[in-house]
Amino acid sequence: GLKGAGKGPLPSMLQQYVELRDEVEERLPGAILLFQCGDFFETFGEDAERLSRLLGITLTHKTSKDFSTPMAGVPIRAKDQHVERLLAAGVKVAIAEQMELPGSGLVDRKVTDLFTPGTLTEERLLGADENYLASVATGDGYALALLDVSTGEFKCAVFGTRGALYDELARHRAREVLLAPEFEENAALLSDFRAKFPVMISKGSFDEAACEAELRSTFGAIPESLATSALVRACGSILAYTRSTQHGRLDMVTRVVRYEPGASLHLSDAALRALEVFQANSAGGSTLLSALAHTRTAGGKRRLRAWLRSPLLDEASIQGRLDAVEALVRAPDLRDGIRALLYRAHDLERLAARVASQRVLPKEVAALARTLELLPELDALLEGQGGLLGQVRARLTALPDVVAIIRAALVDNPPIRLGEGGLIREGFSAELDALRDEALTGRAWMADLEARERERTGLPIKVAYNSVFGYYLEVSQAHAHKVPSDYRQVATLKDRARFTRPDVRERERDIARCESAAERLEFEVFGELRAALANHVELLSAAAGALSELDVLSTLAEVAFSRGWNRPATSSGEVRLVQARHPVVELALREAFVPNDAVMNASRRMLVLTGPNMAGKSTYLRTVVLCALLHQIGSFVPVDEAELPLFDAIHTRIGANDDLAGGRSTFMVEMSELAAILHSATSKSLVILDEVGRGTSTLDGLAIAQAALEHLHGVGAFTLFATHYFELTRLEGELPGLVNLHVAAQEEARGLTFYHQVLEGAAKSSYGVEVAKIAGLPGSVTTRAAALLASLTAKSEGGDGELARELASLDLARLTPMEALGLLHAWQKKLSS
Ligand code: ADP
Repeated sequence: GLKGAGKGPLPSMLQQYVELRDEVEERLPGAILLFQCGDFFETFGEDAERLSRLLGITLTHKTSKDFSTPMAGVPIRAKDQHVERLLAAGVKVAIAEQMELPGSGLVDRKVTDLFTPGTLTEERLLGADENYLASVATGDGYALALLDVSTGEFKCAVFGTRGALYDELARHRAREVLLAPEFEENAALLSDFRAKFPVMISKGSFDEAACEAELRSTFGAIPESLATSALVRACGSILAYTRSTQHGRLDMVTRVVRYEPGASLHLSDAALRALEVFQANSAGGSTLLSALAHTRTAGGKRRLRAWLRSPLLDEASIQGRLDAVEALVRAPDLRDGIRALLYRAHDLERLAARVASQRVLPKEVAALARTLELLPELDALLEGQGGLLGQVRARLTALPDVVAIIRAALVDNPPIRLGEGGLIREGFSAELDALRDEALTGRAWMADLEARERERTGLPIKVAYNSVFGYYLEVSQAHAHKVPSDYRQVATLKDRARFTRPDVRERERDIARCESAAERLEFEVFGELRAALANHVELLSAAAGALSELDVLSTLAEVAFSRGWNRPATSSGEVRLVQARHPVVELALREAFVPNDAVMNASRRMLVLTGPNMAGKSTYLRTVVLCALLHQIGSFVPVDEAELPLFDAIHTRIGANDDLAGGRSTFMVEMSELAAILHSATSKSLVILDEVGRGTSTLDGLAIAQAALEHLHGVGAFTLFATHYFELTRLEGELPGLVNLHVAAQEEARGLTFYHQVLEGAAKSSYGVEVAKIAGLPGSVTTRAAALLASLTAKSEGGDGELARELASLDLARLTPMEALGLLHAWQKKLSS
């Protein structure tokens, strides 16, 4: 029904609206239906109330004799903008367009588009980044499917724990998720999920038989890699849902890749954030991505993000990329040539997906041709290249026939929209040319009509056009009675008279007939072109992938060349960085950046770094870890020389200034991240701990930090630990392989001078009060603080520090309750003395 409607029968248009509304509710529950009425998209009933609230537009009423219903609408030309706003507000949108020009009677309308955040294919609504829809099913772990329908990228994996599943979802920034009933109907799971991901949850259909059928119809058979029923359901449901939003077409999806979560270097979402790989922690800050993102194409940028998200574990692949980067670093002409060509390329991955779905628009086809025309030139540039560059070249199939047919069929600058004509080139279709000729002849006849009639009649006749009469002949009233007898009067104005003539009418009809036939024919010819292009989708996607890869490789080479980065050697178990810089900070500081060395090996597996605040501890830690990350995506690194082992994971616990958005306390966040690290670190992991234990009291913090270090020592992980707990420097000598470092600073009359230089050995003091002075605390406050510090230090030397050490060295497993009470008693006495 329709909210607010009266008792009588609905007018036929609203009847049609209600039917289409029901269809939409069936296909995409919760969506708003925008219903075309001439130049507007209208909504009625409850949708109208929603729309007016969401977009802040006026709510009116559609009223007639015996009914009234709320109505709200937006102009058609503002469609994209409103769709975007609705999606951003978490509302899906369906569009029903008029399928014919309004005549007498009810206009035919159909649902033409369904928009959801995870299934967008329109560049205008998407931006250039990847856009994932996810689907989750459980059973033997958690099966996750991820589909970016705008490029056809489709992959899936199984995760052992919910934490790992969540992490993967977060790393991919999925915009919309389908949850299997066993997940969605479990209230605890669902609320946990909602708390972690503010994404749109949509209804998928997870029936196993239906999912199998969907997979068969997409791939011809159920891919063998989908070995479990959970995978079949995750993948089948995501395809079915996406298909329903794409007019039943899913040709852009040609394969599904099952990946092993452990097949790339483990980099949690927390680590990606802490290292500011994609997002800066401060507004306007730079990221690793922004430091590297000199890619020339949108596909290249998406590929670079994918590489950063999944660094490699396998040495041969890393060396393959490094060889390609090195070749491009050493050959400036080749590099510049490639980059100049890529600059002219359009987003071939997206274009290939649009071709596959046969929804590609004339302008996009022209962009496709322009991009394909670059391929022979790239091919020539890459001639003789081996390795990865050779493989890239092999995939850049030139497809000259495709370019030729596009060039022959399409004008150089086709219109954006389809159906307005003017897109097929002259000479491509004889039938079309004939129709256009006839229309042109007719128009020329019309254009000459005025001159002919003036000559024939000697009267100042004017030929004009309006939408009511079509073409007409006009004279002033003074001459109206002198017109020839074949003129028929159609209108009389105050001072003028308008006439028509049967042959003019006939000509006019001819012109209209030819023009609309030509338009229809253009549409048909374009449809054939689309179908012809769709036969080449596989080669197009392969070429698109190769272009993206070439873009990333040449970008890494450009960055390496222009910033003096060098090729890292892959070692078997040693970190040796000579004059390493932080890839992002060095951009801002340039010459002012102080490079540092780093050495880690069997006898230096844990580095404990002390030094005053602001000395450069964090920067040093991040420099080492970012070099390791760059090495494993196959990039050169900001060093003079480097040797790095292959790490299986990079774990970070950085900074106590994390966001509190999750509602958990800083300390709780810190501890749960630390727990995850301690559970998963191995002897091949690189672990970065920055100021662990800061969120609690000194004693607790110290105890936790030491215990964590001891645990990691047992595991044998490569660990870098920055701390202000000087007590921890005493572990050198106790734990073999633990070495103290400090960042140089000098106390001077004016305060502290930082050298940002990392040296062997522990720092002398924390210089906290000196830093406070620099920061501009009032002199009285810093003086008082210095005095307090002196007395506290004296106390702690006698009391707290000693107690802490005693406490930390207790073996709780062996302690009886009586002994514990005795110790507590003794300590209490010590403290109160
Ligand atoms: P900490 O972790 O010791 O408090 P940070 O690593 O955050 O110190 O560094 C503080 C500031 O010092 C940074 O903002 C940076 O600009 C500067 N800095 C750090 N390391 C270097 C370096 N190697 N060369 C030059 N400046 C540096």
